[in-house]
Amino acid sequence: MSEPTLFEKSAAGRCAIALPELDVPGSALPDELLRDDLALPELSQLDLVRHYQRLSERSFGVDSGFYPLGSCTMKYNPRIGEALARLPGFTDAHPLQSIESVQGPLEIMFRLQSWLAEIGGFARVSLQPAAGAQGEFTALLMMRAWQRDRGEGHRTQILIPDSAHGTNPASTSMAGLSVLEIPSDSRGNISLDALRAACDETVVGLMITNPNTLGLFEQQIEEVIELVHRCGGLVYGDGANMNALAGVLRPGDLGIDLMHYNLHKTFSTPHGGGGPGSGPLAVSDELRDYLPAPVVERVVDEEHGDVETRYRLESPSKSIGRMCSFHGNFGMIVRAYAYIALHGIAGLRENSMHAVLNANYLRVMLRDNYPVPFDRTNMHEFVCRGDVGSEGVSATDVCKRLIDYGFHPPTSHFPLVVPHALMIEPTETESLETLDGFVAAMLEIEREARDAPEHLRAAPHTAPVKRLDEVRAARQPILRSRVQS
Ligand SMILES: *Cc1c(COP(=O)(O)O)cnc(C)c1O
Repeated sequence: MSEPTLFEKSAAGRCAIALPELDVPGSALPDELLRDDLALPELSQLDLVRHYQRLSERSFGVDSGFYPLGSCTMKYNPRIGEALARLPGFTDAHPLQSIESVQGPLEIMFRLQSWLAEIGGFARVSLQPAAGAQGEFTALLMMRAWQRDRGEGHRTQILIPDSAHGTNPASTSMAGLSVLEIPSDSRGNISLDALRAACDETVVGLMITNPNTLGLFEQQIEEVIELVHRCGGLVYGDGANMNALAGVLRPGDLGIDLMHYNLHKTFSTPHGGGGPGSGPLAVSDELRDYLPAPVVERVVDEEHGDVETRYRLESPSKSIGRMCSFHGNFGMIVRAYAYIALHGIAGLRENSMHAVLNANYLRVMLRDNYPVPFDRTNMHEFVCRGDVGSEGVSATDVCKRLIDYGFHPPTSHFPLVVPHALMIEPTETESLETLDGFVAAMLEIEREARDAPEHLRAAPHTAPVKRLDEVRAARQPILRSRVQS
């Protein structure tokens, strides 16, 4: 049943607001701005509130239920982050204010830069990128600039494992570089032989996600990094999966040269609906001077025994320039700062361990019914197959049926190396009861896939909209209500 539009609910003469009587002299609007033919819906305030309330109830978020969308780390967003990000001192600050008048916000930015550098084992951080994908793009521009300065500007290739997230090749092509895909081996690691064969003087670098998008730790990561460095390339770590490692292992210590974080994944700032996200970029000492400008620096003045700490904006000496108009999505910076401050490094470590434990629990509970192609201890997520039960049942059918059971579907058909992939990431914030409820639903769905596959193929049965034609929705979207005049 589709919801009537505001136009269909409109009744002539109704009005949602009453304006006070004019208490200043009236003034006529220019004729060319006044239109009689502009059809606008007329509704009472109550009708309007109910309309939007009903629409909001149709959306599904972490606050409505379990959301095991693999690679997206849909963990709970602590409410204290919201309260802090809404403090007037933050919301009312303007990026064009004088430096002296925004010392507080700059201090938050400086501390978050330092903490993110420390958590990943890097030298310096830029908070500018507005998403993981923009962090990748920023890093690629820096890698090129670094190589050009070394007389290696002729290099054009970026090596990317076949299990990588789609943003990796997309960022590469935006940066004007070409992609060479490296296959996975039989254990789900990047193939060392294929990598060795690809490492030559055309290589700008490797983009690698660890744990990779199969949820598996790259067991030969040190050899991988060594191979790329030996041919003059840099290693970019896609840090979207840091929820498995934060507080446990520092990618910079392994020799990774640059890495983005997704604050909206690992550090629990809200995400979905297109943003705002935040994808800070962390780099090694060798690359620090190429970071986007400006970064926040701390100045400590000592005069006559008085210590004064100030914060200022600085342009790194070989900076690639700006990546956004001001300083990144500041509200996300405050939330991530609060999250890290609350947990401390020990808390982050505990969160990572629980994220890994929860994901392993689900794998073991489901693997007899949903085949796991790389069945070894996983990290914060794992991948199983969704084409179960009977001939013709697909991962999509399982996902759609999960909606009827009140769960958000996992990521499906990704990574591409597993046919009918279901990529399940529970995160650390879910209780054992929730995980068991999800297992029960998955096992029931697998039984249905055997006994009543047609029922599965017609799912969802309870959602307000049934199965959508996703291709048509993407190619021929209907973006406007049609008003009858
Ligand atoms: C989410 C994700 C990205 C991209 O991050 P965005 O913030 O969505 O741009 C890149 N790589 C991996 C592995 C991811 O999961």
